[in-house]
Amino acid sequence: MNPASRALFRLFRANETRVHELNYLFWECTTRCNLCCRHCGSDCKDCSGEKDMPFEDFLKAFDTIPADKRPHPFTVVITGGEPLLRPDLPEIGKELRRRGVGWSIVSNGWLYDEEMHRRLMAAQMGALTISLDGLEEDHDWMRGCEGSFARAINAIAIAARHPRLNFDVVTCVNQRNLPHLQEIYDQLKTLGVKQWRIFTIIPIGRALDHPEPGVRADNLYLTDAQFVQLMDFIAARRTAGGIMNTTFSCEGYLGPYECKVRQTPYFCHAGINIASVLIDGTICACPNIDRQHFGQGNIYTDNLWEVWNTRFQPFRHRQWARQGICKDCKVFKDCLGNGMHNWHAVGDRQGANGDKVPQAMPGDTLSLINCHYNKIIRHQTGDLSNR
Ligand code: SF4
Ligand code: SF4
Repeated sequence: MNPASRALFRLFRANETRVHELNYLFWECTTRCNLCCRHCGSDCKDCSGEKDMPFEDFLKAFDTIPADKRPHPFTVVITGGEPLLRPDLPEIGKELRRRGVGWSIVSNGWLYDEEMHRRLMAAQMGALTISLDGLEEDHDWMRGCEGSFARAINAIAIAARHPRLNFDVVTCVNQRNLPHLQEIYDQLKTLGVKQWRIFTIIPIGRALDHPEPGVRADNLYLTDAQFVQLMDFIAARRTAGGIMNTTFSCEGYLGPYECKVRQTPYFCHAGINIASVLIDGTICACPNIDRQHFGQGNIYTDNLWEVWNTRFQPFRHRQWARQGICKDCKVFKDCLGNGMHNWHAVGDRQGANGDKVPQAMPGDTLSLINCHYNKIIRHQTGDLSNR
């Protein structure tokens, strides 16, 4: 980006932050899940200890947002766990539509068959995201369940045939599926997919059970060289154009790859346009943010709209992030300390596998657990200091 565009973008971001219009609300409606994904940031289970949140509870919180303060479009993203495990999902969708609100789900696709598709479309679902984490062997390995690839492909084929649905496929790239990205691209294109979004994995939730980069061939996290390889792949795909749009997720500031791997410059919208209602009622932003540390309130004790308007300061004023390696970082003004989900309270307590457990407890310190920019610069220059 040239200096003038960068300056303009910073102004735009500052204004968006000042206005902080809420237009995207996640609802973690269940933490039950029918798969057992290795990278799950929530550590969801089929026998989750948490009860599903009653829709009435969510609706009561949602209705604190005055109708004339809801911009158009406004989207409720229903997530989990696996939201399709909730039998009342079509009724939920219909009720949201009655309020003039768009709704969408994020699913592993296992339960998404023709009948489910018909019921959800009848409830005017506006958008759908299905996860596909590789070709058959790698996807089933990652999802911890044989047959999950076939089910996901079936779901993708059904959804891709429906032109009214805003549909995309997301892939978490790891050391196993990285060499097969072109094959995944070809398969999705053949199925008629128009949007492919790519993520990487950070050590939170169940992904903590895996060791640090370079230790095992099947590691979930990319090395610096592999991350740059991923950036090059996406940049090349975007330059080649074509009917399927390949894009890197919002997850971090990318320095030299900004605007090459996604359409708009990096901007973490958490707490600026995005809020969430989590399974226990916690009010936060994206569900993979450290909810214990950054939770802003609870729908069972607070008014959601009031919380949105009067709290969320750590999301909107990011000077606190000037600590650790971000303290003297020369690109801080563009990055602001990376996406909020990259900060976790890391204690010195040991998890079951000897890994650190990211939970906010007295005495824990907040740590940045991933810097995308430094990965790129380290690989390109060998410079470890970022000064
Ligand atoms: S050190 Fe990394 S995360 Fe922190 S501000 Fe700089 S580029 Fe962003
Ligand atoms: S917290 Fe992470 S996922 Fe959410 S908007 Fe920010 S960068 Fe994106």
